[in-house]
Amino acid sequence: MSYRAPIKDISFVLNELLDHEQLAKLPGFEDYSAELARSVLEEAARFAEDVLAPLNRSGDEEGARWTPEGVFTPKGFKAAYQQFVEGGWPQLGAEAEYGGQGVPRVLGTGVQEMWAAANLAFKLCPMLTQGAIEALELTGTPQQKQMFLPKMVRGDWTGTMCLTEPQAGSDLAQIRTRAVREGDHYRLFGQKIFITWGEHDYTDNIIHMVLGRIDGSPAGVRGISLFVVPKVLVNADGSLGGRNEVKCLKIEEKLGIHASPTCVMQFGEQQGAVAYLIGEPNRGLEYMFIMMNAARLSVGLEGYAVSERAFQQALGWAQDRVQGKPPVENTTGKPLPIAHHPDVRRMLLTMKSATEAMRALALYAALQLDLASHSPDEAVRGNAQARADVLIPIVKAWCTEVGIEIASLGVQVHGGMGFVEETGAAQYYRDVRITTIYEGTTGIQSNDLIGRKIGRDRGTAMSALIADAARELQGADAKPAAEGIGLLREGTESLLRALAEQPDRAFAVSVPYLKLAGVTLGGWLMAKAGAKAAAALAKGGGDREFLEGKVRTARFYADNLLPQAHALARIVRNGAASVIETDPALL
Ligand SMILES: Cc1cc2nc3c(=O)[nH]c(=O)nc-3n(C[C@H](O)[C@H](O)[C@H](O)COP(=O)(O)OP(=O)(O)OC[C@H]3O[C@@H](n4cnc5c(N)ncnc54)[C@H](O)[C@@H]3O)c2cc1C
Repeated sequence: MSYRAPIKDISFVLNELLDHEQLAKLPGFEDYSAELARSVLEEAARFAEDVLAPLNRSGDEEGARWTPEGVFTPKGFKAAYQQFVEGGWPQLGAEAEYGGQGVPRVLGTGVQEMWAAANLAFKLCPMLTQGAIEALELTGTPQQKQMFLPKMVRGDWTGTMCLTEPQAGSDLAQIRTRAVREGDHYRLFGQKIFITWGEHDYTDNIIHMVLGRIDGSPAGVRGISLFVVPKVLVNADGSLGGRNEVKCLKIEEKLGIHASPTCVMQFGEQQGAVAYLIGEPNRGLEYMFIMMNAARLSVGLEGYAVSERAFQQALGWAQDRVQGKPPVENTTGKPLPIAHHPDVRRMLLTMKSATEAMRALALYAALQLDLASHSPDEAVRGNAQARADVLIPIVKAWCTEVGIEIASLGVQVHGGMGFVEETGAAQYYRDVRITTIYEGTTGIQSNDLIGRKIGRDRGTAMSALIADAARELQGADAKPAAEGIGLLREGTESLLRALAEQPDRAFAVSVPYLKLAGVTLGGWLMAKAGAKAAAALAKGGGDREFLEGKVRTARFYADNLLPQAHALARIVRNGAASVIETDPALL
């Protein structure tokens, strides 16, 4: 089943819900316009549909391959990457100073959705390169920037993020990779595991951003520094020198994203890998977290990108597969395609409306990042950053958790043919499963949301968001959405009380609280979308089929998905005691 990029819905969110053309008033975005966004989206759609999507299945079947000489990507991937570079795609979000196009993040998010839906394994390499670029832009010295950025922005070299070690997963305080000073650089010794695209055959150099501990640094998170470590050393004139002591020992066998090599990387077997300190010593984790905001948003979008693809696949199947006589609307007396069965239609509507809600919320979060980085008004910048900080763990964890449910529904719509590999539905389910784990698990995102993002400012940023949503829903014909936002307000108050009185109670319900936030904020945006679509229909304008579809998904979301908020709010209120009063020894 081929993939069709959902340009209409992405454009609808940008134009109708976010008024994205407001960005053109901000310094640095003067050239931005709806037409520019549309043409970038159309171009990206062509690349995603024609080049990346056809490689998704074969990439899954063949997988990346480790050899003593290096890691080889599946047939067609290297050529697709070259086309990606020739098309200028790596430059899209990077700063103009190093050859980037500097388009707003909200547009970049729309584009990345297409890469992720078309071929999740492929998408991870540019995503991590972008993360490494942002870390260098933020904290690199002018020489470091000059040495690495132009090539990385052009896509000539790719980048990685090397955090995880066997004993240091969610708990990065346990990092042991050692850094020993040697003149103007350091020598690094240590092993990193699970490094995405740590080795491959795309480019002649790979730039690793590595967390390590300088000898003599304090223990724990305050003693971690960030280093840039090239696979091949770079001479002063920019040409490539000798091989650095960086080696991929093996790649993992895994459930999904088979075309993406997940590498065990050895830094420094003898002399140590040459490494350059980024920014100040012992501030590595802080820098990594700044860069991870964008990476977390990008992983969040993977949840709904795969949902979109799973939905398209399931819809096509349900329109073709003839089975049984639906109880209603069947005047022929003959069996009909399964899309006519109410339960199959319910599954398809769940898939479509949840995907639209997640997309709207993620693009809304991305817009906040654009306002935070480009508004000339300090207060606007501060408020937008605080709102983005609250939203990003929600987008990361909620969209990926729901993404797994949607991909699972996609399998269900196919019946037995969903469980066998032939249709592709199973691959989406396997591929999306990682998204709730990497870049911080759902548990870690929820802790971040209630601890750092809500606890620290005593709910100020979250309350402002709730107040804005409630105000927008006032007077609108959107009772379930307004009720949902009311439940989120009560849930936030109950959470803040728990945080103040007995924090472990709050942490026991942090995931249900995060999901409550996701489902209700999604409900707010879906209600707005439905109202906008209905208004456009009443005026007689626009794409009627699309607008009528939107009115229906908005209504379905309100009637069938938003009621989850009642259950989640009840868990947030009452669920903690049974968790914290159960000793693990009793399990
Ligand atoms: C395919 C793949 C690609 C990856 N790519 C990269 C990469 O490019 N770079 C990189 O550095 N890493 C990468 N990772 C590693 C990934 O980020 C970690 O697997 C992830 O952070 C979780 O760490 P862990 O596996 O050690 O699980 P653990 O930390 O052991 O967690 C196990 C469980 O315990 C829970 N848990 C742990 N601590 C807490 C806590 N404080 N509160 C509540 N619950 C908690 C978790 O939520 C989880 O459910 C990748 C992993 C995979 C599988």
